[in-house]
Amino acid sequence: MLHYHLWTIGCQMNQAESRRIAGVFASAGYAHEPQLDSADLVVLNTCVVRQSAEDRILGTLGLLAGMKKERPRMKIAVTGCFTARDGNELRSRFPHVDLFFGSGEYGVLEDWLLQQRTPPIGTHLPDTSTCAGAAESTAGVSAYVPIIHGCNNFCTYCIVPYTRGREISRTPAEVEGEIRCLVAKGTREVVLLGQNVDSYGHDLPDRPDLADLLERLEPIEGLQRIRFLTNHPKDMTDKLISTMARLGKVCEHLDLALQSGDNDILRAMARGYAVDDFVRLVARIRDAMPRISIATDIIVGFPGETDEQFESTFSLLDQIRFDVVHVAAYSPRPETIAARKYSDSVPQQAKKDRLHRIEELQARIASEINATYVQGQYEVLVEGKKKGRWFGRTRTHKLVFFESNSDCLGHLVTVEITKTGPWALQGQVVYNSISEKGGFPYHG
Ligand code: SF4
Repeated sequence: MLHYHLWTIGCQMNQAESRRIAGVFASAGYAHEPQLDSADLVVLNTCVVRQSAEDRILGTLGLLAGMKKERPRMKIAVTGCFTARDGNELRSRFPHVDLFFGSGEYGVLEDWLLQQRTPPIGTHLPDTSTCAGAAESTAGVSAYVPIIHGCNNFCTYCIVPYTRGREISRTPAEVEGEIRCLVAKGTREVVLLGQNVDSYGHDLPDRPDLADLLERLEPIEGLQRIRFLTNHPKDMTDKLISTMARLGKVCEHLDLALQSGDNDILRAMARGYAVDDFVRLVARIRDAMPRISIATDIIVGFPGETDEQFESTFSLLDQIRFDVVHVAAYSPRPETIAARKYSDSVPQQAKKDRLHRIEELQARIASEINATYVQGQYEVLVEGKKKGRWFGRTRTHKLVFFESNSDCLGHLVTVEITKTGPWALQGQVVYNSISEKGGFPYHG
């Protein structure tokens, strides 16, 4: 049997696509190999959103070039955002790569695998339109399910519209079909993915939106939780907020990218909203769902960002008090509007200082928010075990660790929180919903 290794970096969309790639390999009779240097075939699923990610790809490609000299029969394939560049240039720069295929081009991979070897008799490559990836063994308790590919927004710093193209929504039937397959394999939570999930459906007949899709998915038996990301503040509707608040399986958690707390910077980023719009949106969300947790993204050191403009972002974060802040230093990406229009004027040290100040602020805020969970009892969906302790997430996406001798994987348990920090909570199981139904002997 041949073995493949799948190397993935980047966003949740890449992780979802890697699950589907793993499905293609499993259906073609390949076994997974955890070690890159022992595999017959290595696939790199790439991300170029930041220069640091691109540097990692170049490093790994260099490593693979050396390995291929020693093992010439080893095959290398590259997919993801890195492949959005000119194909001829890629092939001449990286002659040791056997195949470049674009994000989501599973058919190209399938055809190529068929050329590499004769599949075992009876092997059928999967129908990637519905159950791809769900058909293999890596379907986890929680699974990412893309609902819309690409982006139409062209925020000036962002390379995604160039690497992933314009928005294309999957039909509600296709999304529902994939989720039913995943649930049949043991998945209990789905995270619907899109660069901007609020754009979902505008390109489909009857124009269903994300709220309509949630209504359709809510009744799926065996599915316990639904999440989605990422929302765009300029597009998130009151209809979506009220639907979230009403549907029992839709969790109280949002990823809502702010990016900056200064109106001039937001304008230069072409984000399409002002600070006040964002503040009002958060107020409407919290009115509808008072215990909701909200994560955000911030970029520091965007071209021309002054100390005062950074301070505006800093105080806005202190005012809004997000549960999680993903902060990144601006890194110019070729082709983007910002890279062409502005010089990368903020010194690296200033970017680092701003980043660390936000990290420190957020560690304090997250600690304070998480401390309010102590002595409360929360439903946790158990996703796995690490260093002898089970872990899972609350509906509000808080990571919780607890001890138990039972096999809790995939179960909903109620945990009383005893200790908290900025990044995780700890607690003790007080109730297991499955044991009540006789399906799960709980021993504590
Ligand atoms: S919404 Fe903006 S930041 Fe997000 S993927 Fe689209 S262009 Fe990039």
